[in-house]
Amino acid sequence: MTVPPNTPVSCDVLVIGGGIAGLSLAAELAVAHGADVVLVEAEQTLAYHTSSRSARQLIPSYGPLPVQDLTLRTLALIRSAEAELSAPVLTPRSFLLIGDEESVRDRASTHMHPVMPAEALGLAPELKPGAFTAAGLDTTSVACDTDALLEYHRQRLCSAGGRIMTGQRVREAGRREGPAAGLWEVAAQGSRFRAQTVINAAGAWADGIAEIFGARPLGLTPFRRTAAVVDVERPLAEGAPMVADAGDRFYYRPEGQQVLISPSESEPSVAEDARPRPTDVQALVELVNSVTTMGITGVSRAWTGLRTETQDGLPVVGPDPAVQGFFWLAGQGGYGFQTSSGIAELAAGILVGTEAENPLSRTLSPARITV
Ligand SMILES: Cc1cc2nc3c(=O)[nH]c(=O)nc-3n(C[C@H](O)[C@H](O)[C@H](O)COP(=O)(O)OP(=O)(O)OC[C@H]3O[C@@H](n4cnc5c(N)ncnc54)[C@H](O)[C@@H]3O)c2cc1C
Repeated sequence: MTVPPNTPVSCDVLVIGGGIAGLSLAAELAVAHGADVVLVEAEQTLAYHTSSRSARQLIPSYGPLPVQDLTLRTLALIRSAEAELSAPVLTPRSFLLIGDEESVRDRASTHMHPVMPAEALGLAPELKPGAFTAAGLDTTSVACDTDALLEYHRQRLCSAGGRIMTGQRVREAGRREGPAAGLWEVAAQGSRFRAQTVINAAGAWADGIAEIFGARPLGLTPFRRTAAVVDVERPLAEGAPMVADAGDRFYYRPEGQQVLISPSESEPSVAEDARPRPTDVQALVELVNSVTTMGITGVSRAWTGLRTETQDGLPVVGPDPAVQGFFWLAGQGGYGFQTSSGIAELAAGILVGTEAENPLSRTLSPARITV
C-alpha cells in the first residue's frame, strides 16, 4: 500500500508488528468483527524476526495450563480453517520427552503419558540407551507449516480490506487535539497513522513500543534460542517424533533427510536481529552426536530468534491499565505459534467487549504485572 506524503492513514485499529501475533489478531479483527485495520511492520518483509525462526511444532503438553488451553483452542481453529486451504497446515508429529524420572515428571502434563525406555527407543532408535532413564510421549503434538499459517492470516486480512505497510518502524506517538481529539497520531518512516486503538504486537520490542505510547514497560525479556539444520549419516525415519531433553539441553526433529537441532538455550538478550554463535552450534553438534547415533556430518544452516517472556511466563493480552486505547499482545515466549489463533480470538473478544467474563482475560491481563 502507498499513500501520498503527509496524508495520515486513518483506521480503527493500528497493529504494530507483522509476526504471527500481529497478523493473526489483525485478520481476526478484520474478518470476524469488520474492523478497519492497518498493520505496520518495521522490516521490509512480514515475519522477519522470531516468526520465521521457530521449530514449527505445536505441543499441547508444553507450557503452563493457560498456554495448554490456548494451544488446544488454536489447534481446533486451525483444523477448521484447513477446510478452506489447498494443503494442510498441520501434520501429526509426536513429542517425546526424555530425561530422568524427576525431570520428566516435572514436565509431564495431562496431554503426555509416560512410556518405558524400551518403547521410547522403539520410537527414537537413534537415541543411545544410556542417554535417558525415563520418557513421556505426547501423541497430540503436530508439525505446523508456519509459512502457510502466516500466509493464511495475511490473505484473510487483505481480503477483508485490511491494509499492510512494511518498512514502517513506529518511532513516535501522541494524542490528537482539535477535531480528531483522542485519536492516536503515530509516526513511522515517512508515514503517519491515525487510529482509535493501537495493538502492541512488537515481540522483543514491545516494551520499547509501550514507552513510545506513554505506557509503563512490563519488564519483558527477550531470550535467545538457536536452531540449526544439519546433515546426518543416518536420517531419522519419516514420521519420527520430535525428541526433547527434559533438562533443556537439546531437542531435535526430522527435517526431510536432514535434522533440525536446538540447544534449548534461554539467554537474556537486548531486542535485536539475533545471530547464532558458531561455538554454540559446534557444542550442540557434539552433544547431539554424544547422545544419538544419527552421526551429524555438517551444518547446513543455523539461526537464532528471540523468545520474549513476561516474568510469570504467561503471554500478556489486554488493554493497558493506565493508557486508554493501547492494547498489549506480547510475551508469547516459546508458544507464539501454538497459542496464536486462540490468543487472537480472545484478544479480539476483549477488544469488542465479549470476553469480560472469560477467566483467561484476567489471567493474561497486563494489570497483573507489577514491575
Ligand atoms: C528457535 C525458536 C524455536 C521456536 N519454536 C516454536 C515452536 O515450535 N512452536 C511455537 O509455538 N513457538 C515457537 N517459538 C516461538 C515463536 O516463534 C514466537 O513466540 C513467535 O514467533 C512470536 O511472534 P510475535 O509476532 O510476537 O513476534 P515477532 O515475530 O518477532 O514479530 C514482532 C514484529 O514486530 C516488529 N516491530 C518491532 N518494533 C516495531 C516498530 N517500532 N514498528 C513496527 N514494527 C515493529 C518486528 O520487526 C517484528 O516483525 C520458537 C522461537 C524460536 C526463537
